[in-house]
Amino acid sequence: MTLRTLSAFLVLFALAPDAVPAQTAPATVFGYTDFAAESRIESEFLTVPDAKLAGQHLKTLTAEPHMAATPEDHKTAEYVAEKFRAAGLDTEIVPYRVLLNWPKAVRMEAFDANGKLLISGPTREHVDGDPGQDDPRVVMPFNGSSGSGDVTGEVVYANYGRLEDFDQLAAQHIDLHGKIVLVRYGINFRGVKVYIAQQRGAAGVLIYSDPQDDGYYKGDPWPNGPWRPETGVQRGSVQFLFKYPGDPETPGVASTLDLPDAARVSPEGNQPHIISIPISYHDASPILLALKGPGVPQGWQGALPFRYHLGPEGVKVHLVSQQDYQRRIIWDVIGKVRGSEYPDDWVVAGNHRDAWVYGAVDPNSGTAAMLESVHGIGVLLKQGWRPKRTILFCSWDAEEEGLIGSTEWVEQHAETLKRAVAYFNVDVGVAGPDFSAAAVPSLKQFIRDLTRSVSSPLGSTVYEQWKNGHLEANEHRGSNAPPENEDVHVGDLGSGSDFTPFLQHVGVPATDISSGGPYGVYHSTFDDYAWFTQNADPHFAYLQEMARVFGLEALRMADSDVLPYDYVTYAKAIQSYIGAARRKASDAGAGLDFAPVELAAGRFASAAQKAYVLQSSGKGDPAKLDKLNQTLRQTETALVNEAGLPNRPWYRHTIYAPGEFTGYAAVVIPGVNEAIDAKDTGRAAQQLSVLTQALDRAARTLDATP
Ligand SMILES: [Zn+2]
Repeated sequence: MTLRTLSAFLVLFALAPDAVPAQTAPATVFGYTDFAAESRIESEFLTVPDAKLAGQHLKTLTAEPHMAATPEDHKTAEYVAEKFRAAGLDTEIVPYRVLLNWPKAVRMEAFDANGKLLISGPTREHVDGDPGQDDPRVVMPFNGSSGSGDVTGEVVYANYGRLEDFDQLAAQHIDLHGKIVLVRYGINFRGVKVYIAQQRGAAGVLIYSDPQDDGYYKGDPWPNGPWRPETGVQRGSVQFLFKYPGDPETPGVASTLDLPDAARVSPEGNQPHIISIPISYHDASPILLALKGPGVPQGWQGALPFRYHLGPEGVKVHLVSQQDYQRRIIWDVIGKVRGSEYPDDWVVAGNHRDAWVYGAVDPNSGTAAMLESVHGIGVLLKQGWRPKRTILFCSWDAEEEGLIGSTEWVEQHAETLKRAVAYFNVDVGVAGPDFSAAAVPSLKQFIRDLTRSVSSPLGSTVYEQWKNGHLEANEHRGSNAPPENEDVHVGDLGSGSDFTPFLQHVGVPATDISSGGPYGVYHSTFDDYAWFTQNADPHFAYLQEMARVFGLEALRMADSDVLPYDYVTYAKAIQSYIGAARRKASDAGAGLDFAPVELAAGRFASAAQKAYVLQSSGKGDPAKLDKLNQTLRQTETALVNEAGLPNRPWYRHTIYAPGEFTGYAAVVIPGVNEAIDAKDTGRAAQQLSVLTQALDRAARTLDATP
């Protein structure tokens, strides 16, 4: 337990969870000509989200395992729909038919050089006293999108399975053809580990959780603390979501029930063909212990109590994976409040509902918070309030298998979404007390401003606590601290949650929020209500906080006079991305001309300054405001390139994409950076020109402000 979480723990007991929100409403807010009236609406809203009710939602939603497309998943859809309707939202359950694999058999046996059995598994997840672990509906650990097969091979340990880890093995002349690659979870997206292993000829992959990364090395394991116990396994999708997410058979097309089978394509576009199996360190330990060959390089040693070796001598592993691939029905729940002035301009707020098992933190802490946001919106509706723009709350299904529910819905509504003014995501709502956010640069200040209006269970505002946490972290981080003039840090959007189709496929400005903490039971059966109430948020005070922040995002955006997009910051961010790429290209000796793109970025920055002045004055007749808002919104669309990225056309945003070799983390100006990384100067030059055109489009759009 860190000092910070300890103090959070003490304060929690000193504060009633229902403490009245601090009266911190600012006098002026960017995007509003007169904030006084809106301020009263916000204050009213902030009193409604209720900690106890949020806790009850969480308990109901996590009462049973509810993997996507199961009857229990459908029950949670009905529960969410009922709460949406009770609040007065126009609600429907939207089904899609999508390809999903469920495991029929997953087996692993390891033998030493003499053929002696070392371990046979996977071992069932078990600790003393966990209430949910023995339910027969707990799905055996498996990887979504895994191949099927029966393979035997020698084992090679590949650390985190990063590109540089595989390159290091190649440099040591360790051939991976026909081998079983053993990698540990962490750093990159698991689908990337399998993607590179497959490229290097591996026959199968075992992915295990090393205690160094989320187990006893970090602190006490569950049930004594929040960290991963010996048998805990991280399930998860190994879909190649950096190619495209969603239903593997329908890239760019919605998998509606009436979509003919003939319209579907082979799923190989974003699925591995080799086997991968997730295991615990209980099952990985005997393999690592018996593995011979060279000792591991610096940084590859985990926390198991012996020296690790690379292999391939010493251990043979036999893997069996039988995956039942079927087109199955999933259910999104969509609740709508029609806007009074701009009904066609949507504010979309969403969270996924499906879980690998119980999903108390991931994702149903987010769902519980969203339901209390909706509760607050419902109280305003009953008082006669109507938002200016249409608000949609969305409960996505099958996120875990590859952002499927959100992707199919976005693909179905791609045209309409060109007018959507924002997408607000929450996934892991609450794992602890540490608020954090990621956003497109145009919404970074929006999210900072908004957190000044919400009280924290720790006292003062969410913003102040967020900022204090950063100061403390920076003291420990020393030289890695951000520059002193930087406000509280808002991250960039990569992938791994449902904002991806909105921002990176159709260009809807997006944010993602979370309240984090020590959390070692991710995607295991132990991410349950008992774990949550013991470790994350015993009084549901942070569920209440997240309900307030999430609801306020929708409310403040929907009612704004002028869309509060900060393109000045956006332009600065893009200029810094271009500068970094130029330095990287020059270090690599690539002869690339950055002058045109720098000029285009400069024109975009000037247009942004001009627009900012207009946005700040905010006055004018409604027709002019309407036109200003349209051009502000179209500026983000201007950054979308219809042709998409080279080799992955589904990703169309020119500034942000998930990295091909990181998966979760954002790669900025991805077309340019990935071409430079691949030492493909021709492609880099072509992508610089694509970026120049996008920035010119964005500058022209912004310049057309009335
Ligand atoms: Zn999630």
